[in-house]
Amino acid sequence: MTEGSARATPFFCPYCGEETLRPFGDDPDKGHADWRCESCARAFTVRYKGLTGRD
Ligand SMILES: [Zn+2]
Repeated sequence: MTEGSARATPFFCPYCGEETLRPFGDDPDKGHADWRCESCARAFTVRYKGLTGRD
């Protein structure tokens, strides 16, 4: 495990809510990852925006 990894993993599709997500694209380790939903065939990117802290 790499400390400080900025990789974000979605738990479910933001469009249809299914959990059938698969990595999509060939650059999942550059601080972003593309995902494809097997259920609705939508592809999307999850970005790490940084820590927001707490108020
Ligand atoms: Zn979906």
